Amino acid sequence: MRYSQYFIPTVKETPSDAEVISHKLMLRAGMIRRLAAGIYNYLPLGLRSIRKVEAIVREEMNRAGAIEMLMPAVQPAELWKESGRWEFYGKELLRFKDRKDNEFCMGPTHEEVVTDLIRKEVRSYRQLPINLYQIQGKFRDEIRPRFGLMRGREFIMKDAYSFDVNEAGADVSYAKMYKAYRRIFERCGLKFRAVEADTGSIGGTSSHEFMVLADSGEDAIVSCSACEYAANMEKAETRNAPACEHADPRPLERVTTPGQKSVEEVAAFLGVNGAQVVKTLVLLADGEPVLALLRGDYDLNEIKLKNHLGCAEIEMAGDDVVQKVTGAPSGYAGPVGLPGKVKVVADLSLQGLHNFVVGANAADTHLKNVNLERDFSVDGFVDLRNVVLGDACPRCESGTLEIWRGIEVGHVFKLGTKYSKALKAGYLDADGKEQIIYMGCYGIGIGRTVAACIEQNHDENGIIFPIPIAPFQCIVSALSAKEDAVKETSEAIYQELLEAGIEVLLDDRDERPGFKFKDADLIGIPLRIVVGAKNLADGRVELKERRSGAVELLTIAEAVAKVKATVKEALQA
Ligand code: ATP
Ligand code: MG
Repeated sequence: MRYSQYFIPTVKETPSDAEVISHKLMLRAGMIRRLAAGIYNYLPLGLRSIRKVEAIVREEMNRAGAIEMLMPAVQPAELWKESGRWEFYGKELLRFKDRKDNEFCMGPTHEEVVTDLIRKEVRSYRQLPINLYQIQGKFRDEIRPRFGLMRGREFIMKDAYSFDVNEAGADVSYAKMYKAYRRIFERCGLKFRAVEADTGSIGGTSSHEFMVLADSGEDAIVSCSACEYAANMEKAETRNAPACEHADPRPLERVTTPGQKSVEEVAAFLGVNGAQVVKTLVLLADGEPVLALLRGDYDLNEIKLKNHLGCAEIEMAGDDVVQKVTGAPSGYAGPVGLPGKVKVVADLSLQGLHNFVVGANAADTHLKNVNLERDFSVDGFVDLRNVVLGDACPRCESGTLEIWRGIEVGHVFKLGTKYSKALKAGYLDADGKEQIIYMGCYGIGIGRTVAACIEQNHDENGIIFPIPIAPFQCIVSALSAKEDAVKETSEAIYQELLEAGIEVLLDDRDERPGFKFKDADLIGIPLRIVVGAKNLADGRVELKERRSGAVELLTIAEAVAKVKATVKEALQA
């Protein structure tokens, strides 16, 4: 490709609407342009990287025995009603009607469509197992689209769906995908971890997320310092709190705490540790009030509470609900002597507490020296909190938990029979008996993978693409492109590299060297051959590696040979 005839609208200034580095650099490097919130044009350079990731994904899916197809973006509501997700999926599902008033949605994922296909086409166990995948645009009406391709509303996903005769078969399919995912992200040159994850609105029995480690990541991931345990924050388990030293229950005391509402305020006011204050959260679970009790220094994990209650939505109750449930304004709720009957769940950490502080269900009042059983009882102890740095590992005896930031680029789920049951996707076994199909589903965010790669690979001058997903592997910068010798040599190198199958960009623009170097650094092409009149007089060109900045003065033949060898080595899968 000749730069002068190509379309790479680079930008010098840092765009003000971009928060994370990958978003800034993708805009500045002319890879993407925003059309509307969370909706982007993929410009030629951006598209080339996206196609690279797609090609790696495709190769590894095919290698693992999955079969490519393509499903429609527009899906009929009936299928979603059959699976039960028309109600459950919420506002991320973009719904609309056609001219005949039929309801449709833009596909955020394709379990319904693919299960419908399979139930119509698969009759016998002989047709199973099968794994179908596609690389296709999805639409999710995200509440907060942001960070460019990282969290778009329209985005490209690879989604695969496996169908097996039984659970053991489904486990094999899952393991194959897990392995393929590891290969994919390794080939993309990413530092990542596979972690245990919650199954969320997709449903199912177990899942792993593939997390690219990056400080800007939206997800917190947890890993053990000693064993293999790794999970995302939503899923990471806490251990039963070690029981505190036994303390004799002291007499219950009612204390005035004017205007002291938060745990910090109450703890400071009463001169106790935050861990001795128990916070009582008033929540609405599908509209029903619930109280959740946690040690003051811990945070509620809504996913754990949601899973425990088996509800679809959890939200903090407003002041009016708090008043109604506790008889007091917000900030003074507590589990002792509640006026009405309401469900109370307590975090495991409460089991080890004695003589703690809670709200008294009266304005400006708290209770001191509160003790479980003597003063109140709960409807169960559950793991309700987020783990914190240094917590004991839930799996091994010696490790403690560490916390990292990560970007979820891939997700594999064991679905079990959730969709096959709802949509009645079955098959006849060898005895001619009707059986239910076991499913798995497996997603990779293609654009997000490119963005995550840039989060991990950049410096103050721009992107540093790993060769496997670079839009071009090599750039030939012709300095003083008007001089005949420079022009002829750069042209010859360009042709030679093209013939060798190298993806090369020839910077033949009539621009100053500094200007060309800035662009080359910004767009992150891994290898650069600089053809300048001075070195050329000695029959030399410069070969510069973008990542290390190392420069070598080589003959033309040497430079070309080195580019070929470097690219070949980097692409060895
Ligand atoms: P998140 O928790 O980040 O919203 P998710 O759990 O909803 O992701 P999945 O339903 O598992 O995502 O989708 C599979 C993959 O699609 C994700 O691993 C991610 O890489 C990608 N993806 C999901 N939502 C988006 C989005 N809004 N923009 C870009 N990629 C996305
Ligand atoms: Mg999501």
